[in-house]
Parts: sequence; structure tokens; C-alpha cells
Amino acid sequence: MRQTRLFFTAPQDEAAEIAAILEDALAEQGVPVAAFEADEATSNWEVSIYVPSQDTDNSLNRITKILSSQGHTHQIGHEALPQIDWVTATLRDMPPVRAGRFLVHGSHDLNAPKAGDIAIRIDAGQAFGTGHHGTTAGCLDVLNACLKRRNYRKVLDLGTGSGVLAIAAAKSTNACILASDIDPVAISVARENARNNRQAARIDFLVASGFSNHRFSAYEPFDLIVANILAGPLQALSRDLARHTTRGGTVILSGLLPHQKARIVAHYRLQGLRLVGTHHRDGWMTLLLGN
Ligand code: SAH
Repeated sequence: MRQTRLFFTAPQDEAAEIAAILEDALAEQGVPVAAFEADEATSNWEVSIYVPSQDTDNSLNRITKILSSQGHTHQIGHEALPQIDWVTATLRDMPPVRAGRFLVHGSHDLNAPKAGDIAIRIDAGQAFGTGHHGTTAGCLDVLNACLKRRNYRKVLDLGTGSGVLAIAAAKSTNACILASDIDPVAISVARENARNNRQAARIDFLVASGFSNHRFSAYEPFDLIVANILAGPLQALSRDLARHTTRGGTVILSGLLPHQKARIVAHYRLQGLRLVGTHHRDGWMTLLLGN
């Protein structure tokens, strides 16, 4: 189902008040409402309402009515959100993807890597992460830059999917690497991909939702965590993620759209992780944070 985001800005108190009213009015339809700081300088907040795209006109009317009954006359904008297809389509004919030194390719393209490339072979399968998505490629770009600058000792790839980011880290560092995913199918795909890339011995795989597995304690804290999930889970994980990051550590977050930046940065800043850099690829955003 495609989603459309309806949005408007208002001063903080007003935004919080309207968001609460909308949340009550729209709860029955399961329509999420969110209010986050949009602009630090003006302390303006943005209220977002996520509706099914086919209901955009109806929802716009309904929300305009609710707002005007409360004496608010905000101009409501709307944007269709990109559809995220977590089920990998068949990518047999897709070309290799380059991100810094990394070249992600399928087994039909074994000759693609050139001298100096760090080749990662991933075939389309039941887990996300062939490199063709802007979030994966964006993470690889940022990972490449981080790994060039510094030696990391303990790396976590949270939401490893196909294992592509863990394999990239294994091929370019001596670090101890843990790769976790909430989905057991992803973990078995990632294990197989690690074997295909001769990195199985370097990566420890774990099925876990967030940090809820006692085996994390054997590793913690990590000096590099990369998590390409989505804004919702990343926001929910901010506290745990910050706790498992060592002092002076690095965090790479992706699965984010540019309009989600202020909200995610604010949540992580509260946990002591500050924004170091922002990277865009194919409309998706990857954030680099440090503490
Ligand atoms: N790291 C890969 C895959 C990203 S897709 C890449 O960059 O391409 C996101 C993955 O996160 C999915 O495999 C999904 O199962 C997993 N995931 C989603 N929520 C999670 C959570 N709370 N804890 C752990 N993994 C999660």
C-alpha cells in the first residue's frame, strides 16, 4: 500500500496540541500522526499524518475540517512516499553497484570487479540488501569512508538482511563482527552469503529484535554500529543503540528519508550521539553520528 504524508508546520505548543487532537480523531483508522521539531532556529514543528495514498483527498478534507473547527488555518502540504519493497525482486540482470571501494555484484557478474575493488557477491534472495537500494549503497559509501579513516575493533550490523554490510566490513577490517536480524530467514541467507564471500568465519550471526539477546553482552560496547532499518524502529532503538556504542564510537543509520532527519537527529542527540555527517543517495539519506 502506498502512503502519502500530509504535513504542516506550526509553533511547538500549537503543533503538539493539534497533533493530539488529530491523533484522537484518526486513531480508529490507524492513521499515524507525528510532531517533530522541523527547524531549530525558529522552533517551528512539523506535524505529519501518514494516510493511504488512495485516501489523500478525503483525508485532506477531513483534517482541514478538524483544524478549522479548532480555529487553525494551516496550509497542508502532501507528498507521496516511496514504496519500500522488502521482498527482493529478481535482480538477475541488474548491473553491479559501486560504493567507494566496494563493488556489489551477482554471480552472473563474477568478472566485474577490477584490481583494487573489494568485491561482494550477493545474489537476489529472500533478504533485503543486493546493493541496488539507495539505503544499502548509501551505507556502503559511508562505511567505506569510516573504515578508511579508522581501525574499528567491534562492529555491529543491526538488521543485516543479506549480510552485505557485515561482509563489506569483514573484507576491509580485522574487526570482530556481529550481524543480527529480527528475521531468521535473513540470518540464514546472510550466513550463506558470508560463506560465498569466504567471510563466514569472520562474522557471528544472531537472530534478535534490536538488542534483546543476551549474546550482545559478550560483545559490547561496539565502536561501530551500522543499522539500515527504517525511521520508526531506529527511533525506538535510539536509547539501546547509544548504550551499546563505546565512547568515541561511530553510528551509521539508514533507511531514512530526508524529511525524517530532524526527528531522528533529535532522538539520538538526546542519547548523546551527535550528527557528524549526512549522505544522500538515490533519494535516501544515511546519517553518520558519533558520541
Ligand atoms: N543491512 C541490509 C538490510 C537492510 S533491510 C542492507 O543495508 O541492505 C532491514 C533489515 O532489518 C531487514 O532484514 C529486517 O528484517 C531487519 N529488521 C527490522 N527491524 C529490526 C529490529 N528491530 N531488529 C533487528 N532487525 C530488524
